[in-house]
Amino acid sequence: MTNSDLADRSVVLVTLDSCRYDVAASARTPNLARLGPLLRAESAGTYTLPAHAALFNGYLPRPVSGPFTLGGRVVDAIWRSAAARPFKRHSAIPFGGPTLMDHYSQKGYRVLGAGGVTFFNASDPANSLPSLFPEFLYFGHPSRSAGTAQSRILDREEQLSLSHTLKLADLCLEAKRFFLFVNCPSTHVPYTTPWSPLTERNRELLRHLYLLHDGKVGRSRADVLGVEDVQMLLEMQRQALEWADSRLGDLFSRLSGRRPLVVVCADHGEEFGEGGRFGHGHPHPTVSTVPLWCGLLGEG
Ligand SMILES: [Zn+2]
Repeated sequence: MTNSDLADRSVVLVTLDSCRYDVAASARTPNLARLGPLLRAESAGTYTLPAHAALFNGYLPRPVSGPFTLGGRVVDAIWRSAAARPFKRHSAIPFGGPTLMDHYSQKGYRVLGAGGVTFFNASDPANSLPSLFPEFLYFGHPSRSAGTAQSRILDREEQLSLSHTLKLADLCLEAKRFFLFVNCPSTHVPYTTPWSPLTERNRELLRHLYLLHDGKVGRSRADVLGVEDVQMLLEMQRQALEWADSRLGDLFSRLSGRRPLVVVCADHGEEFGEGGRFGHGHPHPTVSTVPLWCGLLGEG
């Protein structure tokens, strides 16, 4: 495979928001496995904004095992910005321009984004990420305010970007070539999807988890979630990932005729008290270690 073959492909870039690497390693994800092996990688950011700023500049989470295989070739990185410092190692697609979206727009691609978590709420002028796209669809919660625990702990389907694969694929297929970015909130707290619905028990655990995220309870033993509680929450995230995998299978089927380059990763992980804290936005291995899959669809 030549550089130009890779560089001229359509692209699907997906972030599974907050998905932990160990959760991904324990999940059954047959559609993601079509792309290639699960890679353990390190994110440049500990929360959504910096992680995506790096990603949109071509700086994907870096596999800890070093170079990896893409389309039968070994590469150190998929994209490499001209703004990055000189680098001898092999990048599959060097690019100019400030962002991947700008680069692919210049090449005449349809560039489309979809989200996700509230950082992608395009109706809020405080959010810079959706404005990097010529077209952006936001399916998530409309308010930037955190709201009450009750308003955040809810069953979700229409708010999840991957519930809309038919619409996203149709928009892509209207164009000869496309760059599609999808931020998926299914693996973000409250982890609810059609496969991980609320129950009386997990509703109570989520209420407690939000209090820990918000710093509204102390660090006394009674306030911290127990081992079984954490396991139940991680199990919810695993089910949410498996639901996302099934929806990605639908998206891949619709788009594979265009033989796109596909990258799926988490933007950051999530800590559940391993280092004494909960949530993300701080450096801890459970936050910075993320899953990464990449590959080419429609290769026969
Ligand atoms: Zn995030």
